[in-house]
Amino acid sequence: MELDLRDRVVVVTGAARGIGAVLAQRFADEGARVTALDLAFPERSPAAATTIRQGLCDVTDPDSVQSAVEAVVQEHGTIDVLVNNAGINVEAPVAEIPWESWRACFDVNVGGVFLMSRAVAPVMQAAGRGRIINAASFAAIVPSVASAAYASSKAAVVQLTRVLASELGPWDITVNSYAPGMVPTAMNGFAEMPAEQQDRLLDTLSLRRWESADDVADLLIFLASDQASYITGALLDVSGGKLATQIPARAHGR
Ligand code: NAD
Repeated sequence: MELDLRDRVVVVTGAARGIGAVLAQRFADEGARVTALDLAFPERSPAAATTIRQGLCDVTDPDSVQSAVEAVVQEHGTIDVLVNNAGINVEAPVAEIPWESWRACFDVNVGGVFLMSRAVAPVMQAAGRGRIINAASFAAIVPSVASAAYASSKAAVVQLTRVLASELGPWDITVNSYAPGMVPTAMNGFAEMPAEQQDRLLDTLSLRRWESADDVADLLIFLASDQASYITGALLDVSGGKLATQIPARAHGR
């Protein structure tokens, strides 16, 4: 099966680093015309500059979102795929979460998906097709201690996804969310944890290895393709079988 994304216009938010940067590169590798949006970007090599366009955008700011979307439409005429990847983590017990942090978490993780989707939907409706793909998290399925703000914001993304899927279905626009489990990035510092702590986390996975951003990209390239045209309103679990059983480490002899 060949997933042909050549010349598709793809927008990835939060794409300056981490999973988003890999998603942008992987879509570009598939021949898509990719715009990476973020608050700021590190300097990059001239080679990267030719394949991925970079734009400054704060997904919590309606004006910033609108002008970023207009810039893409001006350049490419349309938007075929929107990946709402931008997100932040807030990790603290409920009693210790400052109101500002709670609000920031919802502003970026849910508000960002809302604002970007609201701005891009009319473009996709005019084209009569489109794909919106939203970063949820395994935390939306099973939360962990100290994840009240993050987990509930990601659960909200799942419900927002379902509503968008219904509202945009008449234009053949699919809207899905996905739940990565544990991709070591700057957001979580998994790879820098002491070995014992890493072992404890890995013991929750049926596959018992860290997830890579490429594992996420493989799913998203499929979701963006014509072959995924009948999948909408879904939450796709791409967590390596996290807590698929109560004690997955037993199968690994641990
Ligand atoms: P990361 O912190 O490495 O990258 C997040 C990016 O989002 C950064 O480049 C940041 O600048 C950008 N961003 C933050 N606020 C923004 C805003 N207001 N406007 C525009 N961009 C903004 O995180 P990551 O680990 O690569 O995670 C990417 C997404 O995947 C997030 O939504 C995260 O919740 C989700 N996720 C990650 C994991 C994981 O294990 N890493 C697991 C589940 C879900």
